[in-house]
Amino acid sequence: AKALGEKVSYFHQDMNLAIEHKKQLTKALNLAVADNQLKLFYQPKVLPDTGDIVGFEALIRWQHEEFGYISPAEFIPLAEETGLIEPLGEWIILEAARQAGEWVKLGYTELKVAVNLSPKQFISARLAQVISESIENSGIQPSNLELEITESMLMENVESAILVMEQFSRQGINISLDDFGTGYSSLSYLKRFPIHTLKIDRSFVAQLASDNDDAKIVATIITMAHTLGLKVVAEGVETKEQMLFLQGRRCDQLQGYYFSRPVSALEATELLNRSFSNLI
Ligand code: C2E
Ligand code: MG
Ligand code: MG
Ligand code: MG
Repeated sequence: AKALGEKVSYFHQDMNLAIEHKKQLTKALNLAVADNQLKLFYQPKVLPDTGDIVGFEALIRWQHEEFGYISPAEFIPLAEETGLIEPLGEWIILEAARQAGEWVKLGYTELKVAVNLSPKQFISARLAQVISESIENSGIQPSNLELEITESMLMENVESAILVMEQFSRQGINISLDDFGTGYSSLSYLKRFPIHTLKIDRSFVAQLASDNDDAKIVATIITMAHTLGLKVVAEGVETKEQMLFLQGRRCDQLQGYYFSRPVSALEATELLNRSFSNLI
């Protein structure tokens, strides 16, 4: 009985720690948003034939002076839970569009900057307004902006999700289905979603060279996407072997540490001035 009692109290201690940790993090996140401590980094999307950069994905970064680096995988769900995603998500869209505007002014008029949307953002009534504003303020074309959404975001209310997507699509904004292959959406939905691009989840790309099944899955996704008139981006490309496989299968764009980690806007601008032709 004593052993059980100890276990129970450890369990409570762990729970309390977890709750305490979450409270602290929430407080810190609120301060960080108010204090502009969050930054957007940019990871290039590269053409497999030339190594040219055709776009960037904006990824949020939070370096806390005391806690160190905190991953968006940890704090974005927290921001969702607490409602902080509203102001934060708005800032992400406006800032990414502003940066896209800088690049367009430098002459990169075809560049696409992708923003990840969280589930709450996607169903927010203000989203369309914020996106329109971001385009107007920055002077970019709608085609300079891309939205990355995940299958799970679409499945809760398929019909209204399709309406939201159609609205953006008509405006000329590209929509990418992120982490493709990890969700539950059926292929019949895929046909109905007005999306432009599939992003193959990096869990499939990681084992390309060593796992024959993954290689077949990736090849099949690429073929299927092309048959449906969609572009395909592979995320998480880390090795030359993976790059060559995807290039051979006519994957449209590649993204991953093999080319570049997500970098600051300043470094991203430097990357734009050269291409990755040396890595192809
Ligand atoms: P995601 O949208 O699927 O982003 C891809 C993640 O993979 C990023 O992690 C990126 O840094 C990482 N990655 C890219 N290339 C490689 C590679 O070659 N190898 C490996 N191992 N990883 C690679 P990150 O930045 O930590 O973001 C994690 C997730 O957090 C994102 O997944 C996205 O769902 C979310 N997230 C990030 N930024 C934002 C944002 O601004 N808004 C929202 N709503 N979500 C965001
Ligand atoms: Mg993404
Ligand atoms: Mg992804
Ligand atoms: Mg992913």
